[in-house]
Amino acid sequence: MAWYPGATKMELQPESDQQPAIRPTQFLVHSIVGPWTARRTYEYWRDSTNLESHFGIGYAGDIAQYIGTETRADANASANRRPDGTGAISVETASNLTATDPWTDKQVEELIKAGVWVHHQHGIPLRLCRTADDPGYGWHAMHAAWNPDAHSCPGPARIKQFREVVFPGIVARASGKTPAPNPTPSKEKPMSYREMWEQDIAPAPSKSPTLKTNPTWKPISFLREIYDLALETRNLVREIRAAQKKGA
Ligand SMILES: [Zn+2]
Repeated sequence: MAWYPGATKMELQPESDQQPAIRPTQFLVHSIVGPWTARRTYEYWRDSTNLESHFGIGYAGDIAQYIGTETRADANASANRRPDGTGAISVETASNLTATDPWTDKQVEELIKAGVWVHHQHGIPLRLCRTADDPGYGWHAMHAAWNPDAHSCPGPARIKQFREVVFPGIVARASGKTPAPNPTPSKEKPMSYREMWEQDIAPAPSKSPTLKTNPTWKPISFLREIYDLALETRNLVREIRAAQKKGA
C-alpha cells in the first residue's frame, strides 16, 4: 500500500486491512456534497457508511488519506476494482450541498499535487480516461460504469475546472514543464509543439462517430481529419465535374 506524503494519514480500519489490493490505473475526482474538512470526511467514512474514498480535500486545502492507494476504496462503482485487479484512486472534495460550487484555489492546488504524485508513484498516464477501463484521469460522472446512478458528480463547474485547470496543471507539472505552482503570465514559457498539439484534452467534434468512446481529441487529430475531409471533398468535386463534362 502506498501513502501520499503530502496528505495527513487518517487510516480507516478495518477497510484498510481487509479490502483487496488493486493496481491503481486511474485517478477520479468527486464532490462529497457537504462543506466538510478532510477530518470530517474521515469521520463520515468511519462512522456512517461502509463506503470510502482514498483521499479527502477540504475547502482550505486540508488533505487526508484514508486508505492506501494500492487497496480498493469504494467510491466509483465498477472502477473500484476490476476483475483484472486494476482500480481507481478516488478523491472526495468538500462542496456545497448541491455540488454546484467551483473548487477553491487551495483545493485546485491540492488536486494537482495529488494528481502529480499518482503519476510518479503509480505511473498513471497523463491523459483523460477515454473509456471506463482506460488508464488516466477523470471525474465521477465521466463514464456510466463509474456512476450507475447517473448523478453529475463533481458538478458542471468542477468538471469545467478539471478540464481547463486541474488536469492541464497535472500534465504541466508532472512533465516538468511548469515548475512554479502559480507562474505569473510574464514568466510563462510559450507552450512547445508537443504541449500544444499532442494534448489529448480537446472536446471531440459533436458529430464524431466515436464521440462516446473517444470524447477528447488531440488538436493534431483535428488538423489531419480536416485535411482528409478536404481531400475527399476535392476528389468528389472533380468526379462531379468530369461527369458533368461527359454529360454535356
Ligand atoms: Zn462522486
